[in-house]
Amino acid sequence: MFENLSERLSGVFDRLTKQGALSEDDVKTALREVRVALLEADVSLPVARDFVKKVQEQATGQAVTKSVTPGQQVVKIVHDALVDTLTGEEDPGELKIDNPPAPILMVGLQGGGKTTTTAKLAKRLKEKNGKRVLMASLDVYRPAAQDQLAVLGTQIGVDTLPIVKGQSPVDIAKRAKQQATMGGYDVYMLDTAGRLSIDEELMAEVEAVRDVANPRETLLVVDGLTGQDAVHTAENFEERIGISGVVLTRMDGDGRGGAALSMRAVTGKPIRFVGLGEKMDAVEEFHPERIAGRILGMGDIVSLVEKAQETIEAEQAERMMKRFQKGRFNMNDLKMQLEQMLKMGGMEGMMGMMPGMGKMAKQAQAAGVDDSILKRQIALIQSMTKLERANPQILQASRKKRIAKGAGLEVSELNKLLKMHRQMADMMKKMGKGGMMKQAMKAMF
Ligand code: GDP
Repeated sequence: MFENLSERLSGVFDRLTKQGALSEDDVKTALREVRVALLEADVSLPVARDFVKKVQEQATGQAVTKSVTPGQQVVKIVHDALVDTLTGEEDPGELKIDNPPAPILMVGLQGGGKTTTTAKLAKRLKEKNGKRVLMASLDVYRPAAQDQLAVLGTQIGVDTLPIVKGQSPVDIAKRAKQQATMGGYDVYMLDTAGRLSIDEELMAEVEAVRDVANPRETLLVVDGLTGQDAVHTAENFEERIGISGVVLTRMDGDGRGGAALSMRAVTGKPIRFVGLGEKMDAVEEFHPERIAGRILGMGDIVSLVEKAQETIEAEQAERMMKRFQKGRFNMNDLKMQLEQMLKMGGMEGMMGMMPGMGKMAKQAQAAGVDDSILKRQIALIQSMTKLERANPQILQASRKKRIAKGAGLEVSELNKLLKMHRQMADMMKKMGKGGMMKQAMKAMF
């Protein structure tokens, strides 16, 4: 997400922060570059212009140029302006799903990711909010569209409305409401049909469904890679149907990210979620602060910690903490950590969220460092006996050979793993002694 924009901006700011003193001209030059970077990211012209104006007004004042760290002050002003651009007057908050069964209407063009997003959000409502969800496909045109939703439903364990051939979208919407009411569902989601472009027929149909369903939320799903087109689509749907928010999909790609920045300013509608992949877990709530941090390469610790909380069982974390405090950290502990890293989206996912690690993740990727390393390390540990895992210091040449062979790997790779383990164990011991471990773990969990 935002790699190109992020890289461009960090180049500008690197130069700024290296300079001791800043003149107004320095700031102006930097902001011209910021403007170009925004336009290249496909941010709409008026939004880019307003943005730069806002920053300029604040950044050319005495307070900045005379301050001890003028470059950092400018970065801070840019950060706040980004948050401002991404934030509307009201915080949309969580999805409105009180008064069961709450209808959620999903709208958008074909191929934007509507059906996938419907299922992702249903899974999220089920697992995070403990809601009973019913999904219904209203796409009676695209062959197998209804089956596609049913397949996803089975995959995520969410019910779908039984398919009745020959019904109109409005009839299906009515049937969904009935079934949701009788079946005691908390939420029902209506996945409407899309077209390749906005046309009268599509709008009239969505309008008719909206009038029958009276949705609590109407979410427009648009492809984030389409930049300003996504924003235009949102304007059209808002005008004709009225939407309560936007889901930007394909933000995992190296899209230029402009849609995210222009959406709120142009349409007045909040981005509620971003889609980050094809998997059913690849959806995230949209938080302006965090996104601004990511754009500026300042990392996103909050998302990282949240992800850790979701993945790591509290009890397990507690148990691990106790062991670490006592200075115990064996191969089983290491294996658990490696597995958690994999679960949390692997190396790339985690590094992208850590401050200053965005660039490193890219380099690592270029150098061929990826999740397969984690998997190989886990395989090596799996190839050890119980005794060896608990006491890695007993590993001599013959044992090492056997372990490496068992995992189908070289002894040199095992040596690297053992070295890493020793370093981690040392660090744990030190932290445990100073009581730092407790603090570090507290901050994380
Ligand atoms: P619909 O026509 O709007 O219902 O689109 P679909 O839900 O069928 O999605 C079209 C394609 O986009 C599918 O192959 C999805 O897996 C893919 N897709 C959806 N959301 C995302 C996303 O956030 N990232 C990526 N990389 N692919 C996505």
